[in-house]
Amino acid sequence: MNDTISGLELTRRLIAFDTINPPGDEAECFSYLADLLAAAGFELTWHDWRPNRPNLIARLPATEAAARAPLAFSGHLDTVPLGQATWSVDPFAGEEKEGRLYGRGAADMKSGVAAFVIAALRLAAQPVRRAEIQLLVTAGEETGCEGAQGLVASGLLQDAHALVIAEPTDNRALCGHKGALWMNLVHEGVTAHGSMPEKGRNAIFAAVESIQRLRGHDFGITPHQVMGGPTLNIGNMKAGLNVNSVPDRACVGVDIRSVVGQTNEAIRSDLRRLLGDGVVLETLTDMDNVYTDFDDPWLDSVFDVAEELLGSEREVATATYFTDASVLKPAMGNPPTLIMGPGAMAMAHQTDEYCEIARIEPCIEVFERLCRDHVA
Ligand SMILES: [Zn+2]
Repeated sequence: MNDTISGLELTRRLIAFDTINPPGDEAECFSYLADLLAAAGFELTWHDWRPNRPNLIARLPATEAAARAPLAFSGHLDTVPLGQATWSVDPFAGEEKEGRLYGRGAADMKSGVAAFVIAALRLAAQPVRRAEIQLLVTAGEETGCEGAQGLVASGLLQDAHALVIAEPTDNRALCGHKGALWMNLVHEGVTAHGSMPEKGRNAIFAAVESIQRLRGHDFGITPHQVMGGPTLNIGNMKAGLNVNSVPDRACVGVDIRSVVGQTNEAIRSDLRRLLGDGVVLETLTDMDNVYTDFDDPWLDSVFDVAEELLGSEREVATATYFTDASVLKPAMGNPPTLIMGPGAMAMAHQTDEYCEIARIEPCIEVFERLCRDHVA
């Protein structure tokens, strides 16, 4: 049992590993965590997703006949790149300044991973446990939850009693997030000399037709009481090579955020109907929305714990980003799912990313209590 390392120190050690994705290279960071967990009696299952890019399932088994399915925590170890702007701190040094721990991944989401690892390490000392705790640590989240998709495809996942995703929420207990469906609408035409456009078929005109149909698109769904309504944005358009040719290809990038009551599959077939056969829909990212109703008994118990330990008001809110839960939740029997972590939502992907140090230990305490209640 390793009870000497604090959440702050573990976060700092995780930050020290450069896991910027692309390329990822999360393996060393995983090995470090794995050693820590193995020493505390966790059973480790590796999933070799890609070379030097594993996923890890760490189980703290029940000591008695299990009374319920495992409580699972999940987080990713990859981070986004540093960005164009110059950092005022070393992004891998884990510098502390004015109560903040700085570094790439400090908020998103090495502090979150550290919080559930420490909570689980503390629980490992408890002699009697009537249920299992599972830690699902993933690679390759930042480029579209690909690591989690690999983990699902491996068949290693099992049904869970509940799932916690420790993405940055400023320790707010959030009950889901919108889905994301990113697509490239491909329009093919026929090229011709710019002086004889009648000999060609202009792909840009076809793309503009699609854009007109999508503008102000009504999804025909009542806004959800917590998530609000779905949105559609056209983010880019790529077409044409030179001014004096008829373009034979035009691609329009569409970003749809779906809400409860919608599936990405249904949205895709609606758009196929709306745009017609001439438009090819290439899916770039496909994350269904995630939501747990606030009258779910487990989520209700989370609100109780957060109220008691953090003094937080009960609130029903969802995250602005999407998470591995889109992929993991359906593969684990659709358990109630909480999004909660010590990082600041606003600091994710920022230059000079930091985590408020004062949030780390309270988050660990909430996670630890959830674990203790689960194995009681
Ligand atoms: Zn993240």
